[in-house]
Amino acid sequence: MKRIHPLLGVVLTTAITGSAHAALRVVTSLQDFASIAQAIGGDRVETFALAKGYQDPHFVDAKPSFILKLSRADLLIAAGLELEIGYLPPLIDQSRNERIHPGNPGYLDASIGCDILQRPTQIITRAMGDVHPYGNPHYWTDPENGRVVARAIAAKLAELDPDGKAAYEANRAAFEARLDVKEKEWDTKMAPYAGTKVVTYHESWPNFAKRFKLEIIGTVEPKPGIPPSPTHTLEIIDVIQRDKVPLILVEPYFDTKTPNYIAEKTGAKVIMFYPSVGGIPAIRDYFDLFDYDINAFVSAMAGKGR
Ligand SMILES: [Zn+2]
Repeated sequence: MKRIHPLLGVVLTTAITGSAHAALRVVTSLQDFASIAQAIGGDRVETFALAKGYQDPHFVDAKPSFILKLSRADLLIAAGLELEIGYLPPLIDQSRNERIHPGNPGYLDASIGCDILQRPTQIITRAMGDVHPYGNPHYWTDPENGRVVARAIAAKLAELDPDGKAAYEANRAAFEARLDVKEKEWDTKMAPYAGTKVVTYHESWPNFAKRFKLEIIGTVEPKPGIPPSPTHTLEIIDVIQRDKVPLILVEPYFDTKTPNYIAEKTGAKVIMFYPSVGGIPAIRDYFDLFDYDINAFVSAMAGKGR
């Protein structure tokens, strides 16, 4: 048996438990990215999400405490595509932290490499108040995009903290292995409902719908970010009746008055559908997100009998 010098033993133990290095401070716009960053970074990172999963990710109240978090951040991960345009740029400026400015090494635009839907084909205009001018920014609702984000985070963390490269690689591999298993499970659960037509409140779900073969035939909002109007609501009622749409999926931060009215007129059922980790306490991580929503969808459909 080899003898370890008592002092050397102490040094080794410290290195292995990770307390010898300061954790990288990772700030994310969404809890979804914080969940993935935590899975990849393990104890080498500390994460903090600005928007909570129960808040509309387009419209976040900028708290003074966010500036402090950003001023100390080593890495900022944002969804991009202008999802955060309403609150993040002034916070970055006020943080006076050059590292995390877009274009600098401490900023990661998570949309890069992801499957982005509804890209504009003509000149971008905000004249209509559309909050999705560069394509749909809710792309993490496809778990395959979550995989792309996980790979980008692993590469970025290794760049900022080269000593952790092996750990990040191992964690990324474990994350992807788990995702492989879960995707099979989710696909199996959703397969019987392929082709189901749904109405959603906001355009949060095109990536989810593509992945799980649902057809979104309308939204309660006339355009992303524009509140329901009487004319548009009547059109949606017509479409739901014509196509016998069974479900209206509503994100947790919207008023259910209009969806409930539409449901009353049509017999469609309103269910809460959570676009982000933290939407409710039961959705603790990125895997829980799909587990929860898919189970909710399946039980609602089972109860519909149409
Ligand atoms: Zn949106």
